[in-house]
Amino acid sequence: MIQPHQATALTEKLGQSGLRATRQRELIYGILLAQRDHPTADEVFARAKQEMPSISLATVYNCLETLVGCHLVRQVNFERQPTRFCPNLHEHAHFHDEKTGRVYDIDLDERTLAKLRTALPDGFEPHAVEITFRGAAPTPRKSTRSAAAR
Ligand SMILES: [Zn+2]
Repeated sequence: MIQPHQATALTEKLGQSGLRATRQRELIYGILLAQRDHPTADEVFARAKQEMPSISLATVYNCLETLVGCHLVRQVNFERQPTRFCPNLHEHAHFHDEKTGRVYDIDLDERTLAKLRTALPDGFEPHAVEITFRGAAPTPRKSTRSAAAR
């Protein structure tokens, strides 16, 4: 389920925080990588139970918190909605389709990011940028990539 280089990244990042790559952490990370649809903790829990019936919701929450803390996964929050989780660590925006609830990753290239930073007054030093578009996505075709590719 989890690729060798992803397992290495997991072990390294956890190790930097003095943590070990447990089976549970590997499972949760693998679930996020396998289906990049920005699941909520409850959705991750439902998928995890299929692989590991004994896993508890508390463990899933703990694993997610650990992965976020180690910067392997990022939290995505939309107004009045449960937190979702995204393993895409490249700077990107999200497009939230309000009708279907689907969330798309939208790549932001360096030029676009640099341009956005010029909007900040002098002295403001962002360490991250979070951009969310809301509205209607085109009727789903085969991949989400076609939506991201303008
Ligand atoms: Zn994302």
